[in-house]
Amino acid sequence: MKRLAVLCGLLLVGAISLLAAHQQPQQPASLEIQKVKDNLYVITGGGGNTAAFITEKGVVVVDTKNPGNGPGILEKIKSVTPKPVTMVINTHTHGDHVGSNSAFTGAVEFIAHENCKTSMEKMPAFQSEEGKKFLPGKTYKDKLSLLKGNDKIDLYYFGRGHTSGDTFIVFPALKVMHSGDIFAAKGAPFMDANNGGSGLEYPKTLAKAAAGIKGVESVIPGHSTVMNWNDFKEYGDFMRDLVAAVEQARKDGKTADQAAADLKLPEKYKSYNMGRLKGNVTAIYSELK
Ligand SMILES: [Zn+2]
Repeated sequence: MKRLAVLCGLLLVGAISLLAAHQQPQQPASLEIQKVKDNLYVITGGGGNTAAFITEKGVVVVDTKNPGNGPGILEKIKSVTPKPVTMVINTHTHGDHVGSNSAFTGAVEFIAHENCKTSMEKMPAFQSEEGKKFLPGKTYKDKLSLLKGNDKIDLYYFGRGHTSGDTFIVFPALKVMHSGDIFAAKGAPFMDANNGGSGLEYPKTLAKAAAGIKGVESVIPGHSTVMNWNDFKEYGDFMRDLVAAVEQARKDGKTADQAAADLKLPEKYKSYNMGRLKGNVTAIYSELK
C-alpha cells in the first residue's frame, strides 16, 4: 500500500511538473539498479522506471526520470558497463519520464512516438534552442524496429490511453517489455486528457497490445516492480472491466460521485490501488458527453 501511495505521488508530481510554467531542477533522488536479464537493467527511484539495455555499440536508455537525475542514472550505468549511452527512448511525455533527457549529451539519438514528441514540444524544458536538442530526433507512427540481432528493439503504438503517445518497448531476444505508464502499476491509472489520454480508448489499446505483441515473458511497468506477461494481460482485463462498469453507471443515470462510490469490480482485482478511481470516472464521464 505504501509503495502504491508513493506511486500516486510520483504520477502527481509528473502531472504538476507539466503544468508548471518553469520547471525547477529537482533534488536528485537516490537510485537503485537491478538486473532484469544479463544485459538489461532497471534503475528505480527519481520518477518512472528507467531501463538500461547494453547493446554491442552502446547503452540504450528507456526514460530519464524527473529533472536532476541524469548524473545518477549515468553513475548507475557506469557501475555495470563502460559503454557510452547511444540512444534514449521516451515511453511518453511526462516529466518523470523525460525530465533528465538533457543529461544525455554527445552522440545520442532520441526516439519516441510522434504524438509524444508533439506533447514534449509544449514543455518549457524543450522550448529553448538548447532544450530542443533533447527532443526525439526520430519518431514513428505504428511500429519501429531499431538495431539488429540480439540488440533488436521493437517499438509499438496501439492508440490512446495514459496519453496519446504511449510506446510499448520490446526487447525480443530477452522476452522483456517496458510498458511505460500505460501499465504503470496495478491500479486505476492516470488518464491525462491534456496530453491526449483517453479512458474509453485505454482498454482497447491494452487489448491490441496484448494481442499484437508476441513472445514477452517479463514486463517492466512505469512505476512498479518487474511483473510478468499474465500480470499485463490481467491489467488489460481490469481496465476493460473498470471502463465498462463506469459506462454502465452513466447509463443508469448515476452522478460521477455515485458511480465512484458504488463501483464494484471482481474479487481478483482486490489488491489493485483504486486511489485514482474518482479521477477515472470524471475523465470517462466527460468523454461520454
Ligand atoms: Zn506518465
